[in-house]
Amino acid sequence: MAKRTHRSPAKPTKKAAGILAAKPRPNRGTTSVRTVGAKTRVEEVGKGAKRLKPWTAAEVHEAFRRFQEANPEPRGELEHLNPFTLLVAVVLSAQATDAGVNKATRELFPIADTPEKMLALGEERLREAIKTIGLYRTKAKNVIALSEKLINEFGGEVPNTRAELESLPGAGRKTANVVLNMAFGQPTMAVDTHVFRVGNRTGMAPGKTPLDVELNLERVIPPEFMLHAHHWLILHGRYTCLARKPRCEVCIINDLCRWPEKTV
Ligand code: SF4
Repeated sequence: MAKRTHRSPAKPTKKAAGILAAKPRPNRGTTSVRTVGAKTRVEEVGKGAKRLKPWTAAEVHEAFRRFQEANPEPRGELEHLNPFTLLVAVVLSAQATDAGVNKATRELFPIADTPEKMLALGEERLREAIKTIGLYRTKAKNVIALSEKLINEFGGEVPNTRAELESLPGAGRKTANVVLNMAFGQPTMAVDTHVFRVGNRTGMAPGKTPLDVELNLERVIPPEFMLHAHHWLILHGRYTCLARKPRCEVCIINDLCRWPEKTV
């Protein structure tokens, strides 16, 4: 076999060559973010959104006034019974749909709604209960480990600070934000794939990473709307500003949205 030197680099595989030869895709300002384990991978950042005219404070206020008028008490769609089951549901929801998580937890939570009961159930039975959810083996391990940690370090209670929540196995910044917001009424902004897309596409809070979008949203959203803003944006992305075919014709902020490709 020929000895490889730095002067004669290995030929790229067909796949790699294809990637290298691929023409750059037109920037449509669409965005998608996937969480892989603890890391978040931004697949396509809304670069175009960065060049869009920034929203004025009055426009942001008007958008959230409309969201509030349309849905005064928005609810998350992850089913849970208490802060512990909320925490578990959010950990299980990484790379999974809320509907898929709910299907599994509807039978799980009535028998394991505390860290003690989760430990008593054990990893094997937990794995069996959540096997329809992606990455279920790792998630089962994490849920058992976080239950142990809650008992050993937090008296069996879900803590209410970001640092403590992020110290739990399987819980990252997004998990902490959801739990702080939904269980403890704190005005946090959890950025999932929907919020990331809406923040960039509309031009309201452009950012290359979920953290950028989170911080930009926190900066522009008036404090009186912050508590529910996370749910309004998720629901807007999930049901109206869809990734592939946004329903601009029925969008209640279509006159404010900066996306050049909006269809109205
Ligand atoms: S106008 Fe279209 S692209 Fe803009 S926020 Fe509404 S649905 Fe999304």
